[in-house]
Amino acid sequence: MAMSAADRSGGAGGWSATPVEPQLAQDIAIASRICAMENVFDGFGHLSVRHPDRPDRFLMTKSMAPALAFADDVVELDLDSNPAADERRPLFLERFIHGEIYKRRPDVHSIVHSHAYSVIPFTLVERPMQAMFHTAAFVAEGLPVFDIADEFGETDMLVSDRAKGDALARCLGQKPACLMRGHGFVAVGANLKHAVARAIYTDVNARIELQANSLDGSIKPLSAEEGKLADAVNLAGVGRPWELWKSRVLRDMQTDAGKA
Ligand SMILES: [Zn+2]
Repeated sequence: MAMSAADRSGGAGGWSATPVEPQLAQDIAIASRICAMENVFDGFGHLSVRHPDRPDRFLMTKSMAPALAFADDVVELDLDSNPAADERRPLFLERFIHGEIYKRRPDVHSIVHSHAYSVIPFTLVERPMQAMFHTAAFVAEGLPVFDIADEFGETDMLVSDRAKGDALARCLGQKPACLMRGHGFVAVGANLKHAVARAIYTDVNARIELQANSLDGSIKPLSAEEGKLADAVNLAGVGRPWELWKSRVLRDMQTDAGKA
């Protein structure tokens, strides 16, 4: 049976330098599994939450396949993306995405980074992604595309240090999401549920737009104003899909815990 986050917090050298509610670590694990279930993550991809009591810290799992996450896989990092406590477990190479966005966006309390296959085509063409339906209304704000080659030339495409993370954070600006050329995207939110919902609906929007493009006739996407109005409704109602997604992954979590 996996050790619970509560068992591991508070002790010298434990995972959390600043103890958090065990439910938050559990929600990070649940959200990781939700994103895997909903095509946002495969073996790769990660998400984080800003520490509720320490805005200069954030929480994410150790480097692992997100579909296998448990609460006791959560680690605490500072905004330079270094571990806040003694930590020997492997960390995500691209954790700098999170630290650097939190530095530039005090309004952001959760970040999802995805390599969703459906979104990749929109990172490669000059035509921007458009909002296809009300649930992906935030897309109507216009999502920037980060090209790592602009500042760093030819690289392995990974945001694997602070300078690259800062460049991505600057490209994101004040937007709810940012596409990444030949790589994926990031979605951000005021809380974990908002960031997860935006990540999921970025993928869904991409799939619908690809389908719409196969039909005859021009596309009439949501306008910026329609997007703004619909996004407010979506954010207020995010609890409903969250509870559905959560119920689906909890079954797997209980089965996996039984095997451990
Ligand atoms: Zn990546």
